[in-house]
Amino acid sequence: MSVVIRPQFDFDNSYVREMEGLFEHWQATQAPAPRLLALNTDLAGELDLDIEALRSPEGVAVLVGNVVPDGASPVAQAYAGHQFGGFSPRLGDGRALLLGEVLDVQGNRRDIHLKGSGRTPFARGGDGKAAVGPMLREHLIGEAMHALGIPTTRALAVVATGEMIHREGMLPGAVLARVAASHLRVGTFQYAANRDPQLLRRLADHAIARHAPSVADADNPYLAYFEHVVEAQASLIAKWMLVGFIHGVMNTDNMTISGETIDYGPCAFMDAYDPATVFSSIDHAGRYAFGNQPHIAQWNLARLGETLLPLIADEPDAAIGPATDVLHSFPERFLVHWQAGMRAKLGLADAHDDDLVMIDDLLALMHAQRVDHTSLFRSLSAVVGGDAEPARALFSDPAPFDAWVPRWLDRATSGAADIAAVAVAMDRVNPIYIPRNHLVEEALAAATEGDLEPFDALMAVLAAPFDARPGLERYAEPATPAFAGGYQTFCGT
Ligand code: AMP
Ligand code: MG
Repeated sequence: MSVVIRPQFDFDNSYVREMEGLFEHWQATQAPAPRLLALNTDLAGELDLDIEALRSPEGVAVLVGNVVPDGASPVAQAYAGHQFGGFSPRLGDGRALLLGEVLDVQGNRRDIHLKGSGRTPFARGGDGKAAVGPMLREHLIGEAMHALGIPTTRALAVVATGEMIHREGMLPGAVLARVAASHLRVGTFQYAANRDPQLLRRLADHAIARHAPSVADADNPYLAYFEHVVEAQASLIAKWMLVGFIHGVMNTDNMTISGETIDYGPCAFMDAYDPATVFSSIDHAGRYAFGNQPHIAQWNLARLGETLLPLIADEPDAAIGPATDVLHSFPERFLVHWQAGMRAKLGLADAHDDDLVMIDDLLALMHAQRVDHTSLFRSLSAVVGGDAEPARALFSDPAPFDAWVPRWLDRATSGAADIAAVAVAMDRVNPIYIPRNHLVEEALAAATEGDLEPFDALMAVLAAPFDARPGLERYAEPATPAFAGGYQTFCGT
């Protein structure tokens, strides 16, 4: 007798229960020949899912959307969004479905969501599909971010559909099963606010219950909730900036209110330090350039704040002042997180008034000489240990760096009982391995041709980004300038 093993999701779908008006019930399009390309066993463990069951044909059928598991209630979620500054009142999941919510082993509620699962009522002109390359890319960058300690949505699996889809040419299709603290976005609030004040209030209460239950007791819960999101985003964007991550498409529909990074479309890690760095082929004006990300985050939060005004006070005039104060706290909150992170990267145990100037001077030197961001910060632990050569070698003219070093080194080492421990601690926050663009492209090109070996190898490297391992030198090296100079990424395809 054969026993069918299915992955046992214990669904509890609060969004469908509470957020009528913000979704459409929908089913995934059948995938003709599903094949599991990647399974996140670490995440499966967090969700208490049986790995063998997920790998079985029944499990893969669930992960690609061919079978609706017991207790799931698949819906396409509605949201609006400012895309490159222009408002679209109705975007929504054009090619994705929320399957349902589960509680993970720590009791945290997580969404299980499918991306690339076919057209929905929100699809507009799109085909509802996703290609293998971009879905593996989302999985890879998401796991790299997770290993770097950055809040992020994560892929549970990527399944090839067995169908070819139309892009620049024909490409193999895939579905990504995404796990997120929630899929509530700034754009979800914009959609509700644009429709119905009661819907907006229900959404805000739902979001508070899910993400910040303690603010329900505040004098003004909706203002306190706004502050909570502003703080979560200030912390998140600081983490991006500390590792050189460029999201690439920070539209308001691609900004969560949970503070997790979402929607790995044209994102990429910066190599040579330059705040103007843009990789996305469609970001002609540099709106989402590396150095502009804190500013854009605040702009997006202003859009969130606007939606909350009617909940913060009955009279707009009474709401605008306090909401503006909260919004204007973003730069200071960001700076607190970023400076704390920079101090850790530089091995500084405490804060001094002139730290910011010292840090900015280093960044200016790196910018002027186009020094690789990741390599430079990683090399600073050796400087602490007495060997400045690897860091110096990153500069075409090391003289200004030589002049800068004593200003920093005295701060890092004076008063430190154990200098070796300072260097070790720096290596815990300055990664040696990041998803370098040339490595990512190489791995995805092979995967699209059916060879997953380079992808799996890169995933394994990125799972421990702070631990230098012999034999992995290639993964730590920057791309040749010729590759780096012309690198472009493409949006959500
Ligand atoms: P993104 O920029 O990838 O976050 O997507 C913006 C909007 O376009 C969202 O509403 C998506 O659901 C929708 N979208 C993107 N690609 C497709 C597609 N291939 N088919 C249908 N909708 C899509
Ligand atoms: Mg999106």
